[in-house]
Amino acid sequence: MNLAGRSEREILLFAGLLALSMGLFIARFGRVLRVILRSKQDPDFHLTPILPRVADFFWQVICQAKVIRYRPFAGLAHALVFWGFCAFSIVSINHILLGFGLHWIDAKSGHFGPVYFFCASLFAGTVSIAILLLTYRRFVMRPKWLGDKVSLESGLIALLILTLMLTYLGDYCLALAPASTAARLLWWTHTAALLVFLPLIPHTKHLHLLLGPVSVFLSRGSFARIPPLIGEEDFGLVTGKDITRLVALQAYSCVECGRCQEHCPAYNTGKLLNPKEIALGFKSYLNVNKENSEHPLLGIHLAEEAVFQCTTCGACEYQCPIGIEHLPLIVGLRRGAVNTGAWEDEYGGELFLKLERSGNPFGMSQFERDKFIKKAELPFYDGSQDYLLWLGCMGSYDPAGREIVTALAQVMRYRGVTFGVLKKERCTGDAARRLGNDLAFQQLAEFNIAQLRAARAKKLISICPHCVRTISEDWKEFGPAFEIEHHSVFLARHDSALPAAPSTATLVYHDPCYLGRYQGVYEEPRAVARSSGHLVEPPRSRDRGFCCGAGGGLTFLGEEKGTRISHARAAELTATGASAVVAACPFCNSMLRDALPAVRPANTPQLMDIAQLAAARLPPSTEPRT
Ligand code: SF4
Ligand code: SF4
Repeated sequence: MNLAGRSEREILLFAGLLALSMGLFIARFGRVLRVILRSKQDPDFHLTPILPRVADFFWQVICQAKVIRYRPFAGLAHALVFWGFCAFSIVSINHILLGFGLHWIDAKSGHFGPVYFFCASLFAGTVSIAILLLTYRRFVMRPKWLGDKVSLESGLIALLILTLMLTYLGDYCLALAPASTAARLLWWTHTAALLVFLPLIPHTKHLHLLLGPVSVFLSRGSFARIPPLIGEEDFGLVTGKDITRLVALQAYSCVECGRCQEHCPAYNTGKLLNPKEIALGFKSYLNVNKENSEHPLLGIHLAEEAVFQCTTCGACEYQCPIGIEHLPLIVGLRRGAVNTGAWEDEYGGELFLKLERSGNPFGMSQFERDKFIKKAELPFYDGSQDYLLWLGCMGSYDPAGREIVTALAQVMRYRGVTFGVLKKERCTGDAARRLGNDLAFQQLAEFNIAQLRAARAKKLISICPHCVRTISEDWKEFGPAFEIEHHSVFLARHDSALPAAPSTATLVYHDPCYLGRYQGVYEEPRAVARSSGHLVEPPRSRDRGFCCGAGGGLTFLGEEKGTRISHARAAELTATGASAVVAACPFCNSMLRDALPAVRPANTPQLMDIAQLAAARLPPSTEPRT
């Protein structure tokens, strides 16, 4: 916009308002930056390798891929606003320079200026439409995950953006004489919107405009990774002193879009937990406490009850477009509560005691495992077999888990694949880890690692996605990772070599969170299931799959508030009309075993693991040895 012929008074007024606007911006943004930079360093943070970060940044920030993918309509509107902002950066700088009578780019002369300002006008048009649609959605449609209250802040920001776009369009399209009253009015309206908008950025959730891209670029980049505790004095997230730079950065970056909340099984079944409030709880804490405060984190801003309602399903972290990593936050707070002895829970205490005394969450003796191994005629691993069959606690002690192991062994034998089991095996420490008991986790992991090394284990196979995740990822803290495969991957590879079993049965597959989101395994179990019938999908599946409620140690804690998560999931699965529900995780299996008859007492669908489906296709001569 041109402001030829402005008076000195006008220039002075503009300079004063600009200084005020920038002062308010810097005061708040400076404080945010100080908090982030003065926070503890993240022990597991490595900037390198840089290429995956750049690729992720390009995909998530520049292309707005996640934003669009999961909410196509609102996501595209948001992406248009973002791209419009980028395109408008030169317009805004030019506008400020013109306020001082300086020139950078002329819209009317040269080659670049006219083309650029024409493109900016196209963006101004699309951003205006996008903002109107987003405003309609927020204030008229009002999706519940955007919050119950009408957000005046959002309304004001939308109005400012619209003003910026329309004043630009007015000036561009009308091509008014620069000294005319109409041109000056447009210029000052545009200026006022710009100068009000600037300080609002760091004072509101629009801080994500600045920190969101940084947060995406600097995120750990590994899904649901729990950072290691460093040194004797690190108990997890206990007070403000334990908040790391990544935690602070991510907390300030939250855009309050509610995507995490929308997919959270705990929130959606009436629990106190809302993952959005976890991110915002850290932000509120940092807003009211000094940096490195010794005030406890759990209490006013973050609730202990909520933190221990998380199933660690990862739906929140997976959805977040800003790269906020909820799992390190939630498990960090659990660690703080457990490692300092602040968490008092009858079931949790019992679980930890059983893990310590018996090495498994059921408190059963090793003798029970030995009896099962003998009865199922499972050979011991001697270093020469193809696989070490990791039984896990469910495969060792749970009757249904044992049936799954037996079915898998049957298929392996049929295919001539050799395997053996460990003589002694304890819980991987999955529940202890996710509940924040690092001591129990370490003891269990170290015991198992010693057994595996002594047995010269090369390649492991497991029926349990939780075991696969803990062994392949969490145990890395104690040495090189073991190679471990989930049985669905093995079965899919051997599926075409198993006898065909044409069937018209309708099956529905439930994605276990620890197999899908955690390991990206979606197709393999479906391929196995398809060989046994017609596969249908529940409304929430694959990376948007809805948890069964077992993870994060919750299967051992009980679920007192709201609807049971397993019942909510079972209702979705049975609503498909399938005659059988197919699972690929013994924990999902155990949750759905109770939930399916509870929600569908008559004509309850059959519940089967993919290993049982595959084994059912074998000729009768390969009967299970139990
Ligand atoms: S944590 Fe992420 S997904 Fe949740 S509201 Fe904030 S930005 Fe959105
Ligand atoms: S991990 Fe799952 S249960 Fe936990 S807060 Fe996130 S979405 Fe909710």
